[in-house]
Amino acid sequence: MERSFLGEEHAIFRRSLRKFLEKEAIPNFAQWEKNQQVPRSFWKKLGNQGFLCPWADEKFGAVHADFGYSVVINEEFERVGTGMVGIGLHNDIVMPYIDSYGTDTQKERWLKGAISGDLVSAIAMTEPGAGSDLAAIKTTAVKDGDDYIVNGEKTFITNGYTADLVVVVCKTNSKAQPAHKGISLLVIEADTPGFTKNKKLQKVGQHANDTCELVFENVRVPTANLLGVEGKGFYYLMEKLQQERLMVAIQSMEAVEIMLELTVDYVKQREAFGRSISKFQNTQFSLAEMKTEMQIGRTFVDRLIDDHVAGNNVVTEVSMAKWWTTDLAKKVAGECMQLHGGYGYIEEYEIARRYRDVAVSSIYAGTNEIMKGIIAKNMGL
Ligand SMILES: Cc1cc2nc3c(=O)[nH]c(=O)nc-3n(C[C@H](O)[C@H](O)[C@H](O)COP(=O)(O)OP(=O)(O)OC[C@H]3O[C@@H](n4cnc5c(N)ncnc54)[C@H](O)[C@@H]3O)c2cc1C
Repeated sequence: MERSFLGEEHAIFRRSLRKFLEKEAIPNFAQWEKNQQVPRSFWKKLGNQGFLCPWADEKFGAVHADFGYSVVINEEFERVGTGMVGIGLHNDIVMPYIDSYGTDTQKERWLKGAISGDLVSAIAMTEPGAGSDLAAIKTTAVKDGDDYIVNGEKTFITNGYTADLVVVVCKTNSKAQPAHKGISLLVIEADTPGFTKNKKLQKVGQHANDTCELVFENVRVPTANLLGVEGKGFYYLMEKLQQERLMVAIQSMEAVEIMLELTVDYVKQREAFGRSISKFQNTQFSLAEMKTEMQIGRTFVDRLIDDHVAGNNVVTEVSMAKWWTTDLAKKVAGECMQLHGGYGYIEEYEIARRYRDVAVSSIYAGTNEIMKGIIAKNMGL
């Protein structure tokens, strides 16, 4: 099916990225999953090849590439494994905050390293006591001369362990009413005294993707590290969450496609009762239904990509895509595992990893219940 945001140059780019990943990522991926980390050397290689933040301006060392390239990169990373999702987060979720709300000095300071692979980024919103209810965060940033003093704790932070730079969501005014008006974004560098990274969290899946807790104890952060305007942090988050959730939908649709490919291959070679299990009507109907749903999902998500590129506000539709595609990925993972029989539950078979990896997609980037809440609110309910 033709995709309006992709042309011949994107196809050439996809081929070269896939070739690069076949050589540099796929042979090492199982080890990265064991290490619970993608190594820095790989980030550097990605940077050298122009695969980090290609959308950024030429003056920082990128090529000002269109959003189609981000789609290609995220799809190809997903093909290797969902454990690569932290790189997509750096590219298309964290660094766009610096690009959109940073001053020229801040961009000069952080974008170059993010593009070259010398600097890994993370975003810290969630706290042990506040995930969905972001306005209830407790991390404070209190002004003291030309600094803020930051105290608090964050959890479940993707790239948190590797990160050199974290965009931290803090309360600069704990008394603000409504509470979200007191929220600001501060960029905190990893070597700042008082900033500690706790050990990596042991997750069900996405093992190569490091996730950890971050602790801030009287961390002195220069006011020059404030992103945008004090008190506007919540608005910035709301503006950027459209792209974050769209990315999750794009990754989910790619995961669905991969799981179907794996399963079609498997059922063709497995025999039971003297014939290929692909000849059972149940197998065929199950795969036909999943293929149909994949096509429906892709059509919707691709239309949203067009809208997003055009600069339209599609928050409601992206919320729909986020819950629907992640639920679809979870359903497809279960059905594809079933069609693999016992082998589907064995780690040697890729469907086992895929099953573990997609489980969290309905939780992060805003839970699917929160997505339905947004849709209902925009229906006037
Ligand atoms: C692997 C992983 C990576 C992550 N990466 C990051 C990251 O990089 N940065 C970051 O800041 N965070 C990250 N998160 C955190 C993630 O965004 C939160 O876990 C998520 O927003 C849910 O918050 P919570 O875990 O506190 O759940 P809670 O908010 O406690 O929710 C628990 C349950 O209650 C439901 N619920 C809550 N409120 C409502 C409501 N109003 N209506 C109906 N149901 C409701 C939820 O849907 C959920 O089912 C990550 C999480 C994971 C697991």
